[in-house]
Amino acid sequence: MFDVQKVRAQFPILSQTVNGKPLVYFDNGATTQKPEVVIDAIAQYYTEFNANIHRGVHTLSQLATDAYEQARNTIQNHLNAKYNHEIIFTSGTTAGINLVANGFAKFVKEGDEVMVSALEHHSNIVPWQFLCEKTGAKLVVIPMNEQGELRMDKFEKLLSSKTKIVAVNHISNALGTINPIKQIIDKAHKVGAAVLIDGAQATPHLRPDVQELDCDFYVFSGHKVCGPTGVGILYGKENWLNALPPYQGGGEMIKEVTFEKTTYAELPHKFEAGTPNIEAGIVLGTAIDYLNGIGFDNIAKYEQELLDYATRKLLEIDGLKIYGTSENKASVISFNIEGIHPYDIGTIIDKLGVAVRTGHHCAQPIMQYFDIPGTIRASFAFYNTREEIDIFVEAVKKAQMMLT
Ligand SMILES: *Cc1c(COP(=O)(O)O)cnc(C)c1O
Repeated sequence: MFDVQKVRAQFPILSQTVNGKPLVYFDNGATTQKPEVVIDAIAQYYTEFNANIHRGVHTLSQLATDAYEQARNTIQNHLNAKYNHEIIFTSGTTAGINLVANGFAKFVKEGDEVMVSALEHHSNIVPWQFLCEKTGAKLVVIPMNEQGELRMDKFEKLLSSKTKIVAVNHISNALGTINPIKQIIDKAHKVGAAVLIDGAQATPHLRPDVQELDCDFYVFSGHKVCGPTGVGILYGKENWLNALPPYQGGGEMIKEVTFEKTTYAELPHKFEAGTPNIEAGIVLGTAIDYLNGIGFDNIAKYEQELLDYATRKLLEIDGLKIYGTSENKASVISFNIEGIHPYDIGTIIDKLGVAVRTGHHCAQPIMQYFDIPGTIRASFAFYNTREEIDIFVEAVKKAQMMLT
């Protein structure tokens, strides 16, 4: 049984007050809070076995290396990757996408096409624009509809033998739409295109199976799955990772260095130049174990209840419009109230202890589509409650009264 009060007790920050009010943290789309096991694991690393990894024969270095590699195995199991060397530690989603987009210059030439969607985070747009500028390839965009869903009919028409890679998110951070990625992957593969899935917003809510999806790359960030900042994961199929050139040069990624020629280390080290964020890598394993302990079925079911409840309550407010109304949605609600700037609402409800995000959510093309400056975004995690939603809705009503 899922007991939210028990869960909340594991998150020290949730019992804080902000501006004299109990904290209501609804900015989980930007980053999640950390449970005690994660906070303790960070302290334990520095207290008991801090040392550089893969480099020393001494005991602490062995312990740190073992813990780091254990975390890699945890993540391999979590994603159901075939090999543990398909799991590359990065500094986050952004870094993972840049690694792939940079390396793809090897496979893309003038006249080729690189496809993203209208729903992407800037992290999954700009690195592909760099690639297109460098190679002369064309950036093609899968359009969306009024509900904030991808136009699959248009997608099929846009695909061709020119398409080299399709990069789409699993769940939109700005609207919450869950995209039909299995369909996208299968259709893209039919024309010989590779597929990268930006899983930054999906991994907090569900457990992806990369073999079942058959995606070529899947990326996510530690800090959005109750883990530390500064760490993320790039999953890539072995053959793609072998084919891609190294991203950064330095220590750890080499086999042999001479001034004439350097040979590269085997996977995964080929893509892990320099000393990584060791503590964060280890603790990402702890965070993933923690979430699996709660269970993604429990998380999804509970968050869906929160989403339905909050949607119903918010729609009782006059002049309130929700952006992103797909049937398939994660626990993210983007909205505006007629005649009021989103920033003003965010500022007032912060005074009442409620943390939400306001603005364009690093997805300006979506705001351009709806012709709005931004939205107010409430994003729920499994540690949020209905009572918090009541406080939030009352706070929004109060802000509306003050501003009109
Ligand atoms: C947060 C987010 C990113 C960027 O993640 P970083 O941790 O900032 O690198 C990319 N895509 C989506 C969908 C996100 O939600």
